[in-house]
Amino acid sequence: MFSDTTHYFRQAAERMGIGERVQRLLEKPKRTVKVEVAVELDSGDLAVFQGFRVQHNGARGPFKGGLRFHPTVDEDHSMALAALMTWKSAIVDIPYGGAKGGIDCDPNQLSPGELERVTRRFVSEIHEVIGPHKDIPAPDVNTNAQIMAWIMNEYSRINGYSPAVVTGKPVDLHGSPGREEATGLGVTFAIQRYLERKGLSIAERRYAIQGFGNVGSHLARHLHQRGGKVVAVSDVHAALHNPEGLDVPKLLEHMGARGTVKGFEGGDALPRDDLLYVDCDVLVPAALGGVFTQENARDVRAQLIVEAANGPTRPAADAIFNERGVDIIPDVLANAGGVIVSYFEWVQNIQQFRWELEDIRGKLDRFISGGCKTVFDLAERKKIPYRTAAYIVAIGRVGKATVLSGI
Ligand code: GLU
Repeated sequence: MFSDTTHYFRQAAERMGIGERVQRLLEKPKRTVKVEVAVELDSGDLAVFQGFRVQHNGARGPFKGGLRFHPTVDEDHSMALAALMTWKSAIVDIPYGGAKGGIDCDPNQLSPGELERVTRRFVSEIHEVIGPHKDIPAPDVNTNAQIMAWIMNEYSRINGYSPAVVTGKPVDLHGSPGREEATGLGVTFAIQRYLERKGLSIAERRYAIQGFGNVGSHLARHLHQRGGKVVAVSDVHAALHNPEGLDVPKLLEHMGARGTVKGFEGGDALPRDDLLYVDCDVLVPAALGGVFTQENARDVRAQLIVEAANGPTRPAADAIFNERGVDIIPDVLANAGGVIVSYFEWVQNIQQFRWELEDIRGKLDRFISGGCKTVFDLAERKKIPYRTAAYIVAIGRVGKATVLSGI
């Protein structure tokens, strides 16, 4: 996966005429920490997981990025996702470098007590490299506000009261209003800005969303509130299709009660992978990476792909989409809403002053729209894909900060 991120980085860096040595300097992570996370299970057995924290580039500020608890977490994934965070923060112009990490465990197989012990042990192993002005973790796949609360508590136990060491905390424990919906709402704003340029609006377009977790479900809600027709959704258990548009509030209720979209009666069941090929205007991957490949890219019917997930498009698929004239709003821009509101949460923790939800939504809109304007303008002027334009903007900003600091 790191080779995919490197591919996109190099594509842009070469266009900018950046030399090989500087490319290498910007491409590789600054620091990779790998730890053994040993915990006692409820059965009394010992389990040992591997934990990672990769800090990619800190030229623009403290390292920032999520923690993923998933069996696929390894050094290569963490490196790729950390690099994406560097470019993402630069594109929407928030003062952070990029980091990522996680543990190769499956939280669905752990009891709440085991999950808490895994989290606390991980923090005790990495606490020296994180901190409110060093590296600030946040939620990602399979991690949530409760886990962030344990991280804050464990870090504070070792280092003293430090709410700003982690973001995505519960609103009742130094978290921010609007953080949970932030990625989905940010994706909504990005779609809105794209459509406006074409003289269109969210209303009456048809959307298919792959993944109905935190990001996909909030996105569906916001699109529906603006008159969009969500015609298909999927999760790990099932996919649903209704060409007339799913009843999103009812679907969210069903999801709340059952924890899956499976069994919802307002749509027809589809084979899960077929979601990618349904007739729609906008297709949103909002689950794991590596969804679009050389094998399936020609079967996608949407004219716009919006990457709510990190790394959903392999380079071969990206080339096919470009050749076919399918637009892609890339992950590093489309899903930046999460880290933007993380930034607001961090600022509130440092200020010790709570902002209002409406204020947060308005500021989120301004940061995403600012990133969209810069990237879309450049792409149109140079006639290049949005992804390349986004990387050019990011590399330019990180490069400038590096030069100004002195190497
Ligand atoms: N995990 C999210 C992302 O990939 C959010 C990171 C953060 O808030 O620091 O952008």
